[in-house]
Amino acid sequence: MSASDLTNLLALGSIALFVIGLKRLSRVRTARSGNALMASGMLLAVAITLLEIGLVDYRWIVGGLLVGGAIGYAIVARAQATQMPEIVARFNGFGGAGSALVALSLFWAEVVETAGDGTAVETLGGTSATTLVLSVLIGSVTLSGSILAELKLRGTLGGSPDVPVRGAVMGLLAVGGLAAGFVAVFGIEDPAVASLLVVGLIVASLLAGVVLVLPIGGADMPVVISLLNSLSGLAAAATGFALDNQLLIIAGTIVGAAGLILTQIMCVAMNRSLLNVLIGGFTGGSTEHGEYEHVVSADAESAAMVLEASQSVIIVPGYGLAAARAQNAAYELAQALLNRDVQVRFAIHPVAGRMPGHMNVVLAEAEVPYELLFEMSEINQDFASTDVAIVVGANDVVNPAAHDDPASPIAGMPILDVEQARRVFVIKRSLSPGYAGIKNELFERDHTVMLFGDAKQVLDDLAAELTLARR
Ligand code: NDP
Repeated sequence: MSASDLTNLLALGSIALFVIGLKRLSRVRTARSGNALMASGMLLAVAITLLEIGLVDYRWIVGGLLVGGAIGYAIVARAQATQMPEIVARFNGFGGAGSALVALSLFWAEVVETAGDGTAVETLGGTSATTLVLSVLIGSVTLSGSILAELKLRGTLGGSPDVPVRGAVMGLLAVGGLAAGFVAVFGIEDPAVASLLVVGLIVASLLAGVVLVLPIGGADMPVVISLLNSLSGLAAAATGFALDNQLLIIAGTIVGAAGLILTQIMCVAMNRSLLNVLIGGFTGGSTEHGEYEHVVSADAESAAMVLEASQSVIIVPGYGLAAARAQNAAYELAQALLNRDVQVRFAIHPVAGRMPGHMNVVLAEAEVPYELLFEMSEINQDFASTDVAIVVGANDVVNPAAHDDPASPIAGMPILDVEQARRVFVIKRSLSPGYAGIKNELFERDHTVMLFGDAKQVLDDLAAELTLARR
């Protein structure tokens, strides 16, 4: 077997690891091993590429692995589960920047260092020269867009300022940047002039990323981040074409397609079109609380008495459960109820929390058995025959305005029909709105009782009351 056969075989192994890993990511149970498989596929891909090039001193390779690994570890080790979308945003930005930098290094090697040997297209060929420009454009848009998205998610950058004639500005930046890039690689031999034009391409692309993300509200950032994830994949695929590296083309295309599918899933779950998100129609986080007139609240003791007499309970976790780190307390309450032969299930809304799968992640942390977790489509029809629905730190995903008020920002969003249950307990600290910033009339329904307090504290109190009553 020749050396090139061996590298091809290893490349096939790396691609198989990506594909199998991605498949395993689609289930909570197998996601961890899927992630590990994809990381190994990536390491193998890096090793094959360096072997293929055969030019890089191994000390640079080990140094790069150590520095990159340490930065990745430092970022993730300190992060809370709720910060995951911010971290994904940062890694997308790194991905876009990495692709753009590789494309720029190709430009440097073929145009600047070989000054006078003709234009880039003469040395690189048409496909490489074209995709080099695309890679710099998409990679730079991804970088600046991701930085802005992270700042917005963190709340460092508030609001969603309107950019006048945004479409025209974006078009101008994209066309201007592309024109500069193409002239640089197709028409200019002088490396100094070509370099200046490439700088113009980078600046225009970075600005385009800012104009793209700036007017979009914080609530829509996770959708934007998954779109930027898709763009980072496309930038990598473009770099793959520029370098004629099939492994990079395939890996980039997989990331691009996966990001686009996730974007679509999130848009459907929030009942928004991607265009509507990009236009920045739903700003989220506004403070339209609305007045509440008829709200009944109770303490844990009286709520526990209702739970004691019930036969079926559905727990609906939301962002507040994750924020209060109340997943263990929720499982302890579920166990206290199960010990009393009450049927207990958890209902998971696809966009509850602040990232896709957020509730699955936090409940898995508390080792809640998968058999107790039910997707919205599986459980929604069962609320009508349920004694008590306990809403823990959820708000928008149980807001009946989605059904009842066509003018509501969340109109049409599929929700968990908790109000169908015979009794609804809502655990939250106040009457503050959720992410969409709107009133929730569920809190005023006759059969709703508010249990005000921190989610962990109230759940602990409920479990303690149930355990006491059993003695
Ligand atoms: P919401 O953001 O609607 O509501 C969360 C509630 O939790 C708040 O009303 C808050 O009320 C309460 N809360 C916060 N901290 C605590 C605490 N320590 N103890 C008790 N309660 C607490 O959350 P949902 O999960 O219902 O909905 C998610 C929202 O995020 C939706 O609008 C969704 O579209 C949006 N979104 C989700 C994405 C995803 O991928 N999951 C992506 C993009 C957007 P109070 O302050 O009174 O306690």
